[in-house]
Amino acid sequence: MAEGKFPFNRFRVGMMKKSGIEWTDKTWSPVSGCTKVSAGCANCYAKQEVDSRLSRNPKSIFFGRNFSEVQTHESQLNVPLQWKKPRRIFVCPRGDPFHESVPDEFIDRILAVIKLCPQHTFQILTKRTERMVAYFSNRIVPLNVWIGVSIENRTHGLLRINLLQTIEATVRFLLIEPLIEDIGNIVLTGIHWVICGGETGVLARPMHPDWVRGLRDQCVAAGVPFLFKQWGEWILAESGDGYAKVGIKRSGRLLDGKLYNEYPRLRYEKHELYPFQLRRESLQQMIEYPEYGIVECRRECFPANYTIDRGLRIDEHGKHYAHKHISMTER
Ligand code: SF4
Repeated sequence: MAEGKFPFNRFRVGMMKKSGIEWTDKTWSPVSGCTKVSAGCANCYAKQEVDSRLSRNPKSIFFGRNFSEVQTHESQLNVPLQWKKPRRIFVCPRGDPFHESVPDEFIDRILAVIKLCPQHTFQILTKRTERMVAYFSNRIVPLNVWIGVSIENRTHGLLRINLLQTIEATVRFLLIEPLIEDIGNIVLTGIHWVICGGETGVLARPMHPDWVRGLRDQCVAAGVPFLFKQWGEWILAESGDGYAKVGIKRSGRLLDGKLYNEYPRLRYEKHELYPFQLRRESLQQMIEYPEYGIVECRRECFPANYTIDRGLRIDEHGKHYAHKHISMTER
């Protein structure tokens, strides 16, 4: 969307780079900072990055801060509006959008921007699944959002999967990383994508290949796309006795000699924008985000897996456009 077409230019546009994360194209940080919640956080990569370099970089949003100081960034909100080419965007890579310090009203604003960017797919990930479920109990997940939970072990993972399965969304995914124990059998009903990876960093914990094979086999059996991200710092020792620390470059991302790099299968997706005749009485029932030019966003769900999102936008001349986003997910 061209700058100035809609009245967003009061916000400063942040600089964004291509992401180095295998399963996304870009990152977007309207929220930064986090606090630990479970065993997977013990060696949090984001905290390590902030402590080792970002807190000393004047260009970083973490400059002079501790990672545990959670902040919302109004100046970052309009960043995805500047990207015309469709991208997969990981929301809050160094934080959790559902952290208890982030007000519902700010998450509403993140979602308002997402609704204005139907060309992009937004990947929202959390370990705070209870908060995410509560938040979406009276809100609709936009069609261009993939929601996921981060899992490290069975104790926390099973509950997070169960909760995720209760949320209606185009794509529900599991980021099983760092995998620090065998999580055994999991229920993959309603899950559209599984990503798995080992831990990185100085204190990384090893991941046994059989744990990964177990997940891969379950995904293959259930027809769920599987992406194996990387082994992490450790591989099995050649002697077969214990692990050897070889670093992430040498350990690579092949599993049994094969690259697993699958993504959710969206069978059908279409966006339309067309002039719309506004009826005054219907306006009353609409959800309003006036500062973003969104007047309404409504989803119609059809049997099986066919959904239509309708939205209404206003340009800077007051002209109304209806937006229709149709998608069909393979389940
Ligand atoms: S939830 Fe994620 S970002 Fe937050 S401390 Fe844990 S690993 Fe780090």
